[in-house]
Amino acid sequence: MFQNRTRFRSIAATLIQRIVLLAGACLAAMLALQGFLTYRETQHRMDHALAEIAENSLPMLSISLWDIEPEVVQRQVNWLASLPEIGRVRVLASTGQTFEAGALAIDLPGPALRSLEIQAPQGSKPVGRLELWIEPGYQAAQVAHDTLGIVTGYVLFTGLLCLLVGWMLRRDLQRPMQEIARFAAELKPQELSRPLKLERPPRDHQDEIDLVTQGFTQLQSDLRSHIANLDHLVAERTQQLEKLIEEVHRLSITDALTGCFNRRVIEERLPAEIERARRYGRALSVIFADIDHFKAINDQLGHAAGDAVLRDVGALLLGQVRTPVDWVARYGGEEFLIVLPESDLVHASQAAHRLREMIEAQPLHVEGRLLPLTASFGVAQCGPDEGVADLLARADAMLYHAKSEGRNRVEVSG
Ligand code: GH3
Ligand code: MG
Ligand code: MG
Repeated sequence: MFQNRTRFRSIAATLIQRIVLLAGACLAAMLALQGFLTYRETQHRMDHALAEIAENSLPMLSISLWDIEPEVVQRQVNWLASLPEIGRVRVLASTGQTFEAGALAIDLPGPALRSLEIQAPQGSKPVGRLELWIEPGYQAAQVAHDTLGIVTGYVLFTGLLCLLVGWMLRRDLQRPMQEIARFAAELKPQELSRPLKLERPPRDHQDEIDLVTQGFTQLQSDLRSHIANLDHLVAERTQQLEKLIEEVHRLSITDALTGCFNRRVIEERLPAEIERARRYGRALSVIFADIDHFKAINDQLGHAAGDAVLRDVGALLLGQVRTPVDWVARYGGEEFLIVLPESDLVHASQAAHRLREMIEAQPLHVEGRLLPLTASFGVAQCGPDEGVADLLARADAMLYHAKSEGRNRVEVSG
């Protein structure tokens, strides 16, 4: 199976990670922007508040300074300093007195943020000056508070969005893709009819995953028919091959000229026949048949005529035996061996006589003349402990005897 060396990571996990990273970056940018805007807005608000405070406290301070009531002035200064926006308050009376209050050290914030002339109640001349410094911690806390409020909303919103997107990616992408991958990995040629079924929420449309599923179904169907075609082709070819093998085998055991078995069959089959007959206590006989004066036919009528005679005699012998029990093989030249399982000497010699008569009764037709054709026969029955060589030697001896006794004869051994 294909093995990828790089580590596996699902698309959904990668997408979720990227979405979270991008959301984080957007959040940081929003945080910076929101912080800047909130800072500007807070500063504006503080300025406005300071101006209002200053304007509102001027009439009271004017009266107190005009009436020269230092305790009242100091109280007013203290009250002003107690306001959260105010870091420090200083009132410089025209009499030279200074009234101060506030948590902020006077030398820290630089020049006052607000410095206003305090006019006498009738407004004829100034009686002092009011200086106000804002509380920087208050402003920072305001910025932090406002920014945090908004940013918390953003964080919650982004987090929730990431969770929802992650859940959807897992449900709609990761899970079906994993099912497809598992299905593809487990797919076997024998299981091509198993359909790819994905557990997906109902939809009123198709998407890429549906297309992949359909592609798989189509591929399985194509593969199935391809395999079926191949099976059919293999069966057809196997049948042809079997026929060819059968034919080759038939040719390998057949004598091409006469259609009888060839010498090889005698060597392979006869020992088995003898063994079988011995084991079951059955009779088995053989007949040697040899055409008489065959050389003369060849010499006088030509080799082709000789071949025709061999074909005729072969056909005659094949037509007369009880196939498939009895069988005929061309032993060599114009000599045939007829094997008769389940036949004793009497039956075999009867068969030999019948064959001899039939050959004699079938003269050759050559150039309008009838030439006589005869054959001699040697018959032997297999003895209890006899082997192939001895049996054939006895039958051959009988054939030789028939020849020497004048031919066109049957001689029986024993
Ligand atoms: P006998 O009566 O003593 O058997 O004499 P014969 O002439 O039949 O026997 P012999 O063994 O002298 O000659 C056999 C001849 O058969 C010799 C050979 O040329 C011929 N022969 C062997 N095989 C074939 C063959 O396939 N075709 C042809 N036309 N002749 C063959
Ligand atoms: Mg002969
Ligand atoms: Mg011969």
